[in-house]
Amino acid sequence: MGIDIYCTNRDCSFEGKQCFEYRRKLLDALRDYLTADESTYERELKYVNWLYREDNEDNSYMNITEEERDMGYEELKKKELDGLFSYIFLTERSMITYTQAVKFKKTFDKMNSFFYSKESRFLDLDMIKHAYCGKGNHNLQCW
Ligand SMILES: [Zn+2]
Repeated sequence: MGIDIYCTNRDCSFEGKQCFEYRRKLLDALRDYLTADESTYERELKYVNWLYREDNEDNSYMNITEEERDMGYEELKKKELDGLFSYIFLTERSMITYTQAVKFKKTFDKMNSFFYSKESRFLDLDMIKHAYCGKGNHNLQCW
């Protein structure tokens, strides 16, 4: 299971596939990062916890207003912690652009230690790196 990804550069044959398991692992890493400094990231954490709502029977995660959600997301953006979302919520019609890759890397570098503590490497990083190193000439398209 995954989303197929190819490079939009006509002279490049790079292809990849997003593994769905990494979506969850990235979200887990983000949550661990915020939880480690809970008093600083209270609002952000509330928003991220809400993203888990679908696979949680505990309804307390739903206990968040729209305003709180917006605020949590805005805070994540301000602190450059929203970079993973473009990859976590990738769809078949998404693109991974250079700008997104830069944002992803900024956030990912911050939670790197949380990700690697999970006994598995983030293998999809190659794809982000492709868009990143391509500096806009190797944007990726999903299908
Ligand atoms: Zn390429």
